[in-house]
Amino acid sequence: MSGLSHRGVDVERISNSNGGGSAPSADRVPVLIVGGGVAGLSASIMLSRMGVEHLLVERRREAAGLPKAHIVSAKTMEIFRQLGLDEVVYKAGSPLDRMERFNWMTSLSGPTPLHGREIGYVDSWGGGDDVPRYARATPCVYTNLSQTKLEPVLFGEAERSAPGSVRYGQELLTITQDDDGAYATLRDVTTGKEWSIETDYVLAADAGRTVGPQIGVGWIGEKQIGQAMIVHFSADLHSWIDDPRVGISIFLSPDNIGHGLWSGALVKMGPTRWGTDAEEWVCHVGVPEGGVPEDEAEVVSLVQRTLGVPEEDFHPVIHSVNKWSIGGDYADRLHVGRILMLGDAAHHHPPAGGLGLNTAVADAQNATWKIAQVVKGYASPSLLHTYEEERQPVARTVVDQAVSTLIAETDAIVGVLGGFEQGAEGWAALERLFSANEEGVRLRASMAKMFRETNFGTRMLGVELGQQYTGSAVVPDGTEPPANDDPIREYVASARPGHRVPHAWIERDSQRFSTIDLAKLDRFVLVVDPAARTAWLEAIAGAAREAATPIELVTIGEHGDYVDVTHNWADVNGLAPGGALLIRPDSFVGWRCATLPADATGALTDAVCSLLGLPPSEFPVAVSGHDAVMSL
Ligand SMILES: Cc1cc2nc3c(=O)[nH]c(=O)nc-3n(C[C@H](O)[C@H](O)[C@H](O)COP(=O)(O)OP(=O)(O)OC[C@H]3O[C@@H](n4cnc5c(N)ncnc54)[C@H](O)[C@@H]3O)c2cc1C
Repeated sequence: MSGLSHRGVDVERISNSNGGGSAPSADRVPVLIVGGGVAGLSASIMLSRMGVEHLLVERRREAAGLPKAHIVSAKTMEIFRQLGLDEVVYKAGSPLDRMERFNWMTSLSGPTPLHGREIGYVDSWGGGDDVPRYARATPCVYTNLSQTKLEPVLFGEAERSAPGSVRYGQELLTITQDDDGAYATLRDVTTGKEWSIETDYVLAADAGRTVGPQIGVGWIGEKQIGQAMIVHFSADLHSWIDDPRVGISIFLSPDNIGHGLWSGALVKMGPTRWGTDAEEWVCHVGVPEGGVPEDEAEVVSLVQRTLGVPEEDFHPVIHSVNKWSIGGDYADRLHVGRILMLGDAAHHHPPAGGLGLNTAVADAQNATWKIAQVVKGYASPSLLHTYEEERQPVARTVVDQAVSTLIAETDAIVGVLGGFEQGAEGWAALERLFSANEEGVRLRASMAKMFRETNFGTRMLGVELGQQYTGSAVVPDGTEPPANDDPIREYVASARPGHRVPHAWIERDSQRFSTIDLAKLDRFVLVVDPAARTAWLEAIAGAAREAATPIELVTIGEHGDYVDVTHNWADVNGLAPGGALLIRPDSFVGWRCATLPADATGALTDAVCSLLGLPPSEFPVAVSGHDAVMSL
């Protein structure tokens, strides 16, 4: 090892690793990922799929962080499907019909008839009554898989894809950047040895802990709006739970009214059984005044009282006890020079709606395809500005939704109960709700109606799939977005530039695919009808003289690569015969040309150069036009 002084910091480069993974092969890597949560690990796999060398550093010594996130959305499953990880994640996670209900209860059990009562429920995560609506919109369904189980799956894949590219037990200490690169100093948390590495680009997936503060990223919104204890345990709860469809229960007990009314929550964790007989659970409960108890018996007692189960029958095995606190804010910048912020480094929000991990994976997809295009010399570095243009509005929306959902839930329940206070008054309100008299019948009907109509954050198909990007990585076609009266809950399919390509089932060789499957991380895909194949192939070859990025041609229609069996694709793509749709690597439509133009080569070249930020004077010259053309 050689000692050196780099930008004022005395460091040593290390030549081997003891934290997992091998040492970086050079003192400089094209991309450095800081943080090995779901955002960082997903980014690592994506970069590997695109053949971009990178190094991920994580200060924890191993995969599997806190058992916080667990709801994995259909949109995230679309991304995992693109990575070839959907089957392994579905296999590890919960079936939809074992998570499709989200209910509010007084407790699981207890000494009075008011204990163990369900106050209301919502169909959730694309299950129950929502199944047909989601099935029209996406080829995927939700699953429930704890972050503690998902991270090892992602780590395994990251390591298989690029052995040695993920290094645990390495903490980023400092980051600086200039015109030539970014410079990181790190510390091996086991040995304390410091080392350094240079990089072209940094993906900050460190939940905003180190990189953001050092490069002056500020936050918009509330820093802390909630705090709770999270207890992961194994226990047999089946005698107190009736409904196998419930994945999450929120408790509302007048004995212990906490933040946003709730007294606690219970989340099913599988891992091999997902009914009422699941082996593992997570209980969220308010932090007691004295802080998180160190005594395990106290923790057990807190959980037992939150669930309301008899003390003598509750014998959990505690796996971990932690505290989480969450804000409702997003970063004022997601792109600073050579650094992009992803996941919780870009947005913090309450768990309502399960938006954090899911938004993090989509951030990673958006950031990595752009970085790959830049690193490979296909795009101008200005393409990276579009990461912030596209993802910051999403961050703002998910923060707003998660925060407003919390408030809406509380207001709606209190509204029906006519007030809800700690102690005797709260019990009296529940007594009225569950009484057999006319008032009770009326209140229960109002409660059920309110649960159907209120946004409880568990049916936000519009937020999930209806994102619309504007900015320079999209070439507008002059059309207006489709009308949508409820953009939070409803998704209206559109192939307009800036929208995710609509899902339609198409077939090839008697096998069914989704149009979502056409998107490939390492290339653009031009979708045309079979009659226009030759014209667009020539256009791709022509465009390759100006922009070397790979473009694959796909035909859908009779005698095409795929057949539009349902005609759903024809209904939704907005193309006349001869038209073309350019799908970006993240499955968003980058450009739409409704008809075959007289100069298809010029039109395609302009579109591709525009969305890659290539000004005419800087068009790269492809080595060979045909290198850039890939056709099925
Ligand atoms: C109770 C709760 C429930 C939730 N449920 C859901 C849910 O169901 N679905 C959902 O989508 N989201 C959920 N979320 C949100 C979700 O947990 C987060 O949004 C998600 O984990 C963010 O992933 P990340 O990779 O960005 O950050 P993290 O998972 O926090 O990973 C950041 C990593 O960076 C590492 N790191 C930090 N600093 C350094 C450094 N200097 N050097 C090296 N490494 C560093 C950390 O050790 C950490 O491993 C929930 C959150 C809470 C609190």
